[in-house]
Amino acid sequence: MSSRSPSGTPDLANLARGVRAGERSVIARAITLIESRRADHQKAARRLVQELLPDSGKAVRVGITGAPGVGKSTTIDALGTFLTGEGHKVAVLAVDPSSARSGGSILADKTRMARLGSDPNAFVRPSPSSGTLGGVAAKTRESMLICEAAGYDVVLVETVGTGQSETIVADMTDFFLVLMLPGAGDELQGLKKGVIEIADMIAINKADGDNLKRAKAAAAEYRAALHILTPRSPSWSPPVVTYSALSGNGIAALWSSVLDHRERMTAAGELAGRRREQQVKWMWAMLEDRMFARLKSDPALKAKLPRIEAAVAQGRMTPAVAVDEIATALGV
Ligand code: GDP
Repeated sequence: MSSRSPSGTPDLANLARGVRAGERSVIARAITLIESRRADHQKAARRLVQELLPDSGKAVRVGITGAPGVGKSTTIDALGTFLTGEGHKVAVLAVDPSSARSGGSILADKTRMARLGSDPNAFVRPSPSSGTLGGVAAKTRESMLICEAAGYDVVLVETVGTGQSETIVADMTDFFLVLMLPGAGDELQGLKKGVIEIADMIAINKADGDNLKRAKAAAAEYRAALHILTPRSPSWSPPVVTYSALSGNGIAALWSSVLDHRERMTAAGELAGRRREQQVKWMWAMLEDRMFARLKSDPALKAKLPRIEAAVAQGRMTPAVAVDEIATALGV
């Protein structure tokens, strides 16, 4: 059955039906619609996501970050395969900050996840490309809702260590997993406090072979570092674990922690609270993005902006007066 009407606009009823039925090709098409920059597609995508909203929200949403080479794809491959083996349906999505800049993405790439990429119970989709990081994130979030409506009960959202994209992914997931490498002192030197503050767990990968001892030492150091931070939630103290994505050792325990966290957060009412807050935050973030895009494309303003900006740069006009002028030009 085609999901396009003769006019070329997507047939939303068919798309929604196919997504609910878990048809992979339709899920892929729905996400392509979400990622499209065409105004009519964007409008259709909004309606589709709204239509599927009651079917979404049921997945365990896990954000995963770590520096390049830490083993994100190996971990997602191992964890995802473990989960499909347990009867779960796993979707892997990504927020790649470089895809906002270059349009290309290496995150959530099937070729980097050999087993999961060909697993019938997994759906792997690379990061969308968009003009802004906010745009990439908004599209990933809507794709997550589509995957949930399609019956994926675990969504893994991959990102890479830049503070901003990590915060964004933590804000769209229930559990934020930070991957680190063995190597105690050195790692801690470069420790970005920001990411530790939003971590629900720190997992030290490559705890195998000669690395085992170093991984344990690193874990002890991270534990000490976490100890002095106020936990993000009163119901959860982020654990530090070691594992090996390559051998699979510790992968099951890693997932147990995710479930343990979920149980406690649910019992405390915090999971629902976190989701509520995230939804409202998303509304404002999307509004901000849209207003800003509109502002920048306003023809009257476009003509004035270079002059105003130059005046501010040269110290001839205060930023406050400049904002006044811009706001007046916009009629706000
Ligand atoms: P990413 O850039 O974070 O996605 O990292 P990759 O998953 O591509 O892994 C980077 C390198 O580390 C690859 O050569 C992997 O084979 C290796 N690697 C990943 N996990 C492990 C592990 O648990 N143990 C060991 N020894 N090597 C690993």
